[in-house]
Amino acid sequence: MNHLKPCNRCGRHVRPDAPDGLCPGCLIEMNLRGDTGGPEGAAPLPMEEVARLFPDLEILSLLGIGGMGSVYKARQPKIDRLVALKVLSSDPEDAGFVERFTREARTLAKMDHPNVVTLYNFGEREGVFYFIMELVDGITLRDLLKDGRLKPEKALAIVPPVCAALEFAHGKGVVHRDIKPENILIDRDGRVKVADFGIARLAGAAPVDNLTGRGEVLGTAHYMAPEQVESPEKVDHRADIYALGVVLYEMLTGELPLGKFPHPSAKVQIDVRLDEVVLRALEKDPGRRYQQAGEVRAATEAASRTAPRPSGSPNEKNEKEGGRPGGRLKLFAFAFAFAA
Ligand code: ADP
Repeated sequence: MNHLKPCNRCGRHVRPDAPDGLCPGCLIEMNLRGDTGGPEGAAPLPMEEVARLFPDLEILSLLGIGGMGSVYKARQPKIDRLVALKVLSSDPEDAGFVERFTREARTLAKMDHPNVVTLYNFGEREGVFYFIMELVDGITLRDLLKDGRLKPEKALAIVPPVCAALEFAHGKGVVHRDIKPENILIDRDGRVKVADFGIARLAGAAPVDNLTGRGEVLGTAHYMAPEQVESPEKVDHRADIYALGVVLYEMLTGELPLGKFPHPSAKVQIDVRLDEVVLRALEKDPGRRYQQAGEVRAATEAASRTAPRPSGSPNEKNEKEGGRPGGRLKLFAFAFAFAA
């Protein structure tokens, strides 16, 4: 028993030979999330190594593994503040990384908005680049979507704060470039916060198949505007509006708008004006899309006013699709994620 060690993600005790150093609950959950790490180079730094690099922080658990690195829950003991520490997996061959990192981090540090995850600090230790951010104690929109679509009023409640974050960032000339459910966080009070503004840019103007720097897109490609796939270095803020259209379609229908996709109202009972919102956000030609996030917000709010019921707290359990296989396990994983 005295050989047990803490799970790399939640800190529970596990056997020393546990796969990836994770407890069974975390393994199940991360398999459902599809983010066990994937290709080589994706493994998170062990907690002991992170603790060694950051003696000024108390490293509490691994929150998640994303396309650009791993995120740990930590505490700044001096000021007794919980934070999220994002450790980036940078490519040592990428000569422009340090310059891009510094430039993007300085921009992000100026982004002070209630719907944007605040950046507290950034830097490099022994070649490891990191961000220290506001900790959002809650779940991601991806977690909410695990059991399928959201109730329309919940989906519609998530759009305005995301638009507010985008409007603010776009006003400062910052394009997110990677709007997707994993980057939309919802805290325990139902506040919506967008994470990772501009971070995708740190991977450079890489071709789409290399966006994450790991030779894989990890699902992000589904949210990318056509012009972003064509020439990632040239996108403007309208790429975020396209991605938001994909997220809205997915929230309403539980599916991605792939190929010749049906209108949302053909799949769920919603105001048909929402079809217009989604279709216009998803226009292939950026010139035909909404030009500003504020327009998406206004159109969504106008359609919401006649939605069947008023919007509820977005962190309530989402609508369950009756009888879907694996529903129980997923529900367990959802509760587990929320409690972590
Ligand atoms: P990605 O956005 O590619 O999924 P990230 O590296 O940004 O990857 O984040 C991985 C996971 O870490 C997220 O899905 C989320 O669960 C968690 N996370 C990221 N940032 C925060 C934060 N500020 N507060 C709480 N959890 C976070």
